Amino acid sequence: MFRKKLWVMAAFSAALSGAVAAQPVPQLTLHDGLTVPQLGCGVWELDGREAYASVSAAIKLGYRLIDTAQYYQNEAETYQAVLDSGIPRSEFFITSKLNPHYSSEQEIRKALDLSLQNMGGTIDLMLIHWPFGADELAWKIMEEYVRAGKFKAIGLSNYHPDALRRMLKIATIKPQVNQIEFHPYNSKLDELVQNQELGVTVEAWSPLGAGRQKVMADPVIERIAKAHGKSTAQIILRWDIQHGVITIPRSRNPRHLQENIEVGDFELSEQEMRDIDALNKNAALWDI
Ligand code: NAD
Repeated sequence: MFRKKLWVMAAFSAALSGAVAAQPVPQLTLHDGLTVPQLGCGVWELDGREAYASVSAAIKLGYRLIDTAQYYQNEAETYQAVLDSGIPRSEFFITSKLNPHYSSEQEIRKALDLSLQNMGGTIDLMLIHWPFGADELAWKIMEEYVRAGKFKAIGLSNYHPDALRRMLKIATIKPQVNQIEFHPYNSKLDELVQNQELGVTVEAWSPLGAGRQKVMADPVIERIAKAHGKSTAQIILRWDIQHGVITIPRSRNPRHLQENIEVGDFELSEQEMRDIDALNKNAALWDI
C-alpha cells in the first residue's frame, strides 16, 4: 500500500549551482531516523572516467544518493565528481560496499580504510556486498567505525532473510538497509515484507532489470506507461518508490538520467501496482 511520503526539493542546490532544477525526490527515513533520498544513481560497470561523467551529470539533475562499491573500482572518481560539483558534501548520501572476500581483521580494516581514503574520510552508508566470508567479523569492525564517526550507517547487500536474521543476532547496531536484486521480474515481495517487518529498508539493485528488453518492454509496463504518458523506466522506478524501496538506476546517458529522476509528478493506482507485482517470475537477471 502506498503511504504518502515527505517530498523534499532535492533539486534546490542544483538550481543554486546553476543546473536545471529537477523534480522533487522523495525522502525515506531509516530506522535510526537518518533521512535518505529514495532515488539515486548507481555506477556499476562504469570505469573511473565514466563514473565521474555519469555522477557529474546526475548531480546537476538533482541526484544526491550515489551508490558505488569497492568491487566497481571507481570510488575515488565517484567521490571526485561530488567534490567538483561545489555542492556541500553534507547534501549527499554516498554508499559503498565492502568486498567480503577478506577473512582477517587486518585485511578488513585495510579495505575499509582504503574506501574511506578514496571517499574523503566519511561514508554515509557502508554495506557488506555479499553474505560471504567473515561477514560477522566485518560487521563488528564496521560497528566500531560507526561509533568512531567514519560511517553514518551500515547495512547489507544480497542477504536473504535467513542470512539477515543471522546478522541481526550478532549485531549491536542493526543494519539500516539491505540492497537486493529487485525489479518487476524478480520482485521478491515476500522478502520485501520480511525486511520491512525487521525494520530494514530494502534498496533495489538492477531496478530496471539491468536494461533487459524483456523487462523494459514488458507489455503490461508499456500499457501503464502509455496511460501515464511516461517511459517504462519511469513506471518501474515509480513502482519501487510506492513500495517504499530505495532505487538506484544506472545510466551513462544524460537523457536517461533526467528521465529516471522525473518520477515525482504522477502516482500509480493500487491496481497498476498489483499488475506490476503480478509480473514477478522470481527470475534472477541471468535467467532473463
Ligand atoms: P539498472 O537496472 O539500473 O539498468 C541499467 C541499464 O539500463 C543500463 O544499460 C542503462 O543504459 C539502462 N537504462 C537506464 N535508464 C534507462 C532509461 N531511462 N531508459 C532506457 N534504458 C535505461 O542496472 P544496474 O546497473 O545493474 O543496477 C543499478 C545499480 O545497482 C548499479 O549501478 C549498482 O550501483 C547497483 N548494483 C548492486 C549490486 C549488488 O550486488 N549490491 C548488483 C548490481 C547492481
